[in-house]
Amino acid sequence: MSKPKIVILGAGYGGMMTTVRLTKELSAEDAEITLVNKHNYHYQTTWLHEAAAGTIHHDRTRMLIKNVINTKRVNFVQDSVQSIDRENHKVALKNGEIDYDYLVIALGFESNTFGIKGLDTNAFAIRSVNTARKIREHIEYKFASYNSDPDAKDSDLTIVVGGAGLSGVEFLGELVDRIPELCKEYDIDPNKVRIVDVEGMPFVLPPFDRELANYAQKYLEGKGVEFKLNTFIKEATPEGVKVQKKDSEELEEIQAGTVVWTGGVKANHIPADSGFETNRGKIQVTADLRSPEDDHVFAVGDVAVIFPPNAERPYPPTAQIAIQAAENIAKNMKHILKGEATESFVYKPKGTVASLGEKEAIGVVFDHKMTGKPAAAMKKVIDDRYLLMLGGVPLVLKKGKLNLL
Ligand code: FAD
Repeated sequence: MSKPKIVILGAGYGGMMTTVRLTKELSAEDAEITLVNKHNYHYQTTWLHEAAAGTIHHDRTRMLIKNVINTKRVNFVQDSVQSIDRENHKVALKNGEIDYDYLVIALGFESNTFGIKGLDTNAFAIRSVNTARKIREHIEYKFASYNSDPDAKDSDLTIVVGGAGLSGVEFLGELVDRIPELCKEYDIDPNKVRIVDVEGMPFVLPPFDRELANYAQKYLEGKGVEFKLNTFIKEATPEGVKVQKKDSEELEEIQAGTVVWTGGVKANHIPADSGFETNRGKIQVTADLRSPEDDHVFAVGDVAVIFPPNAERPYPPTAQIAIQAAENIAKNMKHILKGEATESFVYKPKGTVASLGEKEAIGVVFDHKMTGKPAAAMKKVIDDRYLLMLGGVPLVLKKGKLNLL
């Protein structure tokens, strides 16, 4: 009898952790495992703001998939998923087709511009290694051109960040570290640089404790960031952005050489386009993380929405949940193949830390509030813990942040 075929789509946090755990939970005789991803590398999305600002090289955020997974146990297919044919248990790829008995959808997120005029064309988004690299190069080009291009304007040195959620604030933290270096490198007076954050809410970091969020705002303001709260980006143009304060009729124009939108993400479009029933584009999974319409399909990470028992609001889309859910999926796959009952997913929140550059951060870890250097060190521990879970000590030594070498 042929072995059941398990296919995992996407090699982000959810897909990689599912794959690595499946090779531990199952033996080679139990199932054939295939991982599909559009690149030959896995990247750490939660580090992309650093690559985008240029405080780390983008190669630090990524690793070759073949160096992390057990290639004797997992077929890796580098291709782009186009659609899922649930009825026939097939996935259409750009360059072919693949059959499955069990499917794990882990295709992650896309940027959500909420239809704001011009954002798609005139703003960058921190979405992938390639988009992060483009942002870093664009900012550097603006600084490099300032003293050499006769048409250069002071506003070329203005960076507008849309959104003051986790990724927006973390990106601001990296920018305030990076801009002094760029000014020194390109002989630019730091007073000519403006970093403006535009946020529709009356405060920064909405899900965070207010005291910690205020700490982050004050720290960034102290480094020169201007916050425009209660303010909405109405349009992005080649010259910058047009913004409007809540309850005001007036549009204000902010001329800027760089606009980076961090104001929203949505689920990858493929599950909804393939006919899965979705809740705001996400598959609302059952307690054991399967599609309610198809018990051969699991969803993990930003394509899935999980409601805590008896809660009205779902868990937020985070890497932490994607990693824990992936471990649950690997266990459940084993139970299913052995004819056992599956386990419900129980999320164990360990806290969240937001970095504010290399040496500052805020966060709550196991209900303990942290700021400053201890919080920054904790963020590095969290980053390295994931590497440890994924590839053991060798991966931590190669890619980790605690500079053990
Ligand atoms: P992803 O990590 O997005 O991976 C999806 C994978 O699928 C990618 O490898 C992609 O290339 C691949 N893929 C996509 N489409 C296709 C296709 N058609 N064919 C083949 N492959 C495809 N969360 C936290 O918990 N803590 C943080 O501090 C934090 N900071 C963040 C900072 C930033 C700047 C951003 C943007 C997000 C942050 N998040 C954080 C959120 C976190 O990154 C996401 O929740 C997490 O990446 C979701 O994991 P995932 O596996 O669902 O998807």
